[in-house]
Amino acid sequence: MKIIMLGAPGAGKGTQAKKLAAKYDIPHISTGDIFRANIKNGTELGQKAKVYMDQGLLVPDELVVDLVVDRFKNPDCEKGYVLDGFPRTIPQAKALDEALTKNGDSIEYAINVEVPDSNIISRMAGRRACVNCGATYHLEHIPPKKENECDVCGKGLILRDDDKPETVEKRLNVYHEQTQPLIDYYQGKGVLFEVDGTKDMDEVFTDIVNLVEV
Ligand code: ADP
Ligand code: ADP
Ligand code: ZN
Repeated sequence: MKIIMLGAPGAGKGTQAKKLAAKYDIPHISTGDIFRANIKNGTELGQKAKVYMDQGLLVPDELVVDLVVDRFKNPDCEKGYVLDGFPRTIPQAKALDEALTKNGDSIEYAINVEVPDSNIISRMAGRRACVNCGATYHLEHIPPKKENECDVCGKGLILRDDDKPETVEKRLNVYHEQTQPLIDYYQGKGVLFEVDGTKDMDEVFTDIVNLVEV
């Protein structure tokens, strides 16, 4: 099963992608997580990506595409994967198509998680991520069982630097300009599916499962 999650920053792509990955036993591939891991480990890629991420800008396509295409070579991708945060531009989508077509593959579901901009700022302000395992929570909507402690691994939770309101606004603009056109792109390919991301996390998940299991 090859799935792409589309949607604004904070729409709930990561939350749903993790649930899909667990249910269907496929890897969750988040380019944002890959960049953050590289930053944490001080790699050259991390240093380059950080400059853009801190400003709420997209990392240049040439730093992203090979990374993802290489990741597909891992045996865990044999049954498929759920892509979260990639592709984010039309050139990335085209590069992905090209790489897949070479192997006679294609994306089966591009799921657009719809959340209006007015909800996004509070989604991001309340988002907390585990410093260790990347699990995400929301202070009001999806709180951890113990304050400031990850349910999964017990480590601390932080507000991402780029989730501060000034940067979120910038990221939303970037989303509308560069990523939203992907909705039409995948619609044109006949693989676009939409879900209402303002519903409760579990309801959104049920809606997605109903889409991919028909
Ligand atoms: P969110 O979960 O809020 O949508 P991500 O974790 O996916 O954010 O991405 C964080 C940042 O990493 C982005 O703002 C961007 O700078 C960079 N990034 C992640 N994926 C991509 C990509 N496919 N292309 C370009 N930049 C990316
Ligand atoms: P994205 O990957 O699209 O940037 P996340 O999955 O990280 O988004 O979700 C953004 C924030 O909103 C997180 O704090 C998350 O816990 C919370 N969240 C996710 N889904 C929902 C939902 N259906 N209702 C309320 N809050 C949600
Ligand atoms: Zn954790």
